[in-house]
Amino acid sequence: MNIAFFDSRPYDLPAFKALAGQAGLDFRFYETRLGPDTASLAAGCEAVCIFVNDDASGEVIDSLYGLGVRLIALRCAGYNNVDISRAFGKIHVLHVPAYSPYSVAEHAMALLLTSIRRIHKAYIRSRDFNFSLDGLTGFQLFGKTVGVIGTGRIGRVFADICRGFGMKVIAYDKFPDESSGIEYVSLDELFGRSDVISLHCPLTEETHHIIGRETLSKLKTGVVIVNTSRGALIDAEALLEGIKQRKIGAACLDVYEEESDVFFHDFSGHIMSDDTLARLISMPNVIVTGHQAFLTEEALKSIAETTVSNIVGFMRDGRSENELCYRCGRIESCKKGSRGKCF
Ligand code: NAD
Repeated sequence: MNIAFFDSRPYDLPAFKALAGQAGLDFRFYETRLGPDTASLAAGCEAVCIFVNDDASGEVIDSLYGLGVRLIALRCAGYNNVDISRAFGKIHVLHVPAYSPYSVAEHAMALLLTSIRRIHKAYIRSRDFNFSLDGLTGFQLFGKTVGVIGTGRIGRVFADICRGFGMKVIAYDKFPDESSGIEYVSLDELFGRSDVISLHCPLTEETHHIIGRETLSKLKTGVVIVNTSRGALIDAEALLEGIKQRKIGAACLDVYEEESDVFFHDFSGHIMSDDTLARLISMPNVIVTGHQAFLTEEALKSIAETTVSNIVGFMRDGRSENELCYRCGRIESCKKGSRGKCF
């Protein structure tokens, strides 16, 4: 099977190349992203393998289908970049539902600790032999309240890590797991009580800008916002407003609403054209990493193994437990449970 592998990065190659040989798959690695102008690169391929910022919108789905592509293998969990309702009946969509919730949750905590203990500032100072402590006063996590939005795989690991620090954990989830022992509260209560808010829900129409302009007045003054989930959960302009008002004490961002234009590329030496991102990065209390929370050896290995096994399983059996469709969330209408495939 020929597979067009879009948005390929050097760190993807070792694990995928090793597994492809064993599985008889022929990956064609393209550094460019999938989008309307690049879909034609998939000519002659039965499948495409894509990542978080590839564009599999309706127009692209139609182009891929016209080229004979019958499978989209996402090498990530989130699928907000795929028009799965347009793909239905044409192209099967598989994803990697979980690869290492620990990697993402640990990165969220790393960002939080870096921010509140000013490690990023101290690191730069000490490299210049400046050991002054002025301006480096932090605060302890012990005894503070963390509000976790989305208590799935990653949110729960993050909650466990926070408990290890002696924090009080409260949570909001659209589908709360009452047997989990987690204290679920309404979103407004979470906003009002949390010293730290960490986002771990998927990006959907409902969660788009879950932190927005109207949220600001509900937040506790000085709250630290951590986002390792998807950029558009936060309205970046509202975040800047909250920081300027001193309502938001700090922000730790591994994802950014307009990240697809900048993340995963080296813009050092260039003029940053995204003013919002430039302003965020210029703030002393904002830390940005470029969608790196997943980037551990363990996660990369696990992503490659599941992606290849999804493709091989689908070739062999015509089905995969990791298939997605727009009806999958509605158990009664999705046929995967009864027929093993969404269509
Ligand atoms: P998951 O599916 O296990 O958990 C998501 C949770 O969000 C579920 O408990 C679900 O009920 C809840 N949820 C759904 N809709 C909601 C809503 N409207 N409001 C509140 N909660 C809602 O997913 P996961 O594996 O924990 O991943 C969480 C997110 O992390 C993914 O959606 C993805 O966007 C992101 N992610 C980021 C990286 C990274 O490198 N930064 C890596 C992997 C995943």
